[in-house]
Amino acid sequence: MTMKKYNFTRRQFIATTSVGAIGAIVTHRLPSVGKSLNVSDKLALVGGSPVRSSGWMDWPVWDPEAEDSMLTVLRSGKWYREWGNLVSEFEKKYAGIIGAKRALATASGTTALETALHVLGVDAGDEVIVSPYTFIATYNVVFNQKALPVFADTDQETFTINPDKIEAKITDRTKAILPVHILGLPADMNRINAIAKKHSLVVIEDACQAWLAEYDGKKCGTLGDLGCFSFQNSKHLPSGEGGAITGNDDKLMDLCYSYHNCGRPYGNSASEYSGYPFRGGNKRMMEIQAVILLSQMKRLQKDADKRLENARYLDSKLKNIPGIIPYKLADGATRSAYHLYPFRYKKEQFDGLPREKFLKALSAEGIPCSEGYGPQYNDGLMEEALNSTGYKRLFSKQRLDAYREELKNLPDNDQLTREAVWLFQNMLLGDRKDMNDIVNAIQKIFENREQLL
Ligand SMILES: *Cc1c(COP(=O)(O)O)cnc(C)c1O
Repeated sequence: MTMKKYNFTRRQFIATTSVGAIGAIVTHRLPSVGKSLNVSDKLALVGGSPVRSSGWMDWPVWDPEAEDSMLTVLRSGKWYREWGNLVSEFEKKYAGIIGAKRALATASGTTALETALHVLGVDAGDEVIVSPYTFIATYNVVFNQKALPVFADTDQETFTINPDKIEAKITDRTKAILPVHILGLPADMNRINAIAKKHSLVVIEDACQAWLAEYDGKKCGTLGDLGCFSFQNSKHLPSGEGGAITGNDDKLMDLCYSYHNCGRPYGNSASEYSGYPFRGGNKRMMEIQAVILLSQMKRLQKDADKRLENARYLDSKLKNIPGIIPYKLADGATRSAYHLYPFRYKKEQFDGLPREKFLKALSAEGIPCSEGYGPQYNDGLMEEALNSTGYKRLFSKQRLDAYREELKNLPDNDQLTREAVWLFQNMLLGDRKDMNDIVNAIQKIFENREQLL
């Protein structure tokens, strides 16, 4: 992921702690959550003892029970999905837990999104309305279709696309809306679907961080025309690489299968065709990946429930610390997946302590954290695309110049990228004491902020 992590290695940690022991003013243990900390507690960043010196749970977690099935597949030589049946079995089970009629497994979340965009007709020269606050793959898949990712500004409270900003971005080239349930937080799908309907646009959900997240009581990935998931190594349902498309329309799902399988006809209408009636590529999942997924799927719901419970506890505590503003769920969102636990850091309440310094101080207290996504549209990839022969052919100079100006006008997203703080999903699998460590560390930094100013 393109984000900076502020996390100490074990060795750095020990060093910090021992320096702290020499330099510590106060060595007593921190009081539990809720009580005010002693103002003379020395922050770990300046040599005090960290709130937490033990590590956090590793991710992913492998279940040795799956080792036999792994070996069976390995020895069978049936590694390709059409020679085995495990990818199909996984697809049925995944569709089941998401509440979709069908699922198609793919090589990655990126290829799932590309397949969905293709079958829904996103073509060269089209425009797709996207959230700017997302993993870079969401930008890339639109570029890979030779379409223009047009950003609608972010709602800073929900971290997701602001539905009020979508309609102004629609042009006669707009074909689709690609909302992202970023960090696991569901986007405001009722509003997005209503806008799409009004303007005859298709909706593709980037649910690559939103396994089991819910909107209006339905699972993310079932709310648009097609939903896309990732099973990359860091994700909640990991298989190293992997992805899936979910949908309820058999015809569309058959087309997805075809596209991901070299364009070969598939499904009910397959007998109407011969040879290669469609374009396509190879975006298939391997049987080995399905073994991992079938095993990992056993823990998905339990993990999700644990993360939810811990996130709710953090919500209730962190909101009481000045300058810490936990995420808000979008209207209609009923459950987040917490791929990250996000809040906004308002440095004004910390007497101007820069976020960078806050993050360093929090890591030093033993709490891994990240600043999250930056304003990636300034990183160079937009110009690299717009200056390519293809884009100059497909879009007028006027459109591309106007587009460049639009990139400078995403004030809410710009501000969010300056204020966001993320905690990682594996931390939310801990117990109440682990959550108290997080709260205590932030509270300690707040109360002792002058040590860093
Ligand atoms: C991980 C991710 C993707 C891409 O998935 P890969 O499996 O890594 O290709 C797309 N969008 C978002 C929001 C993601 O987090």
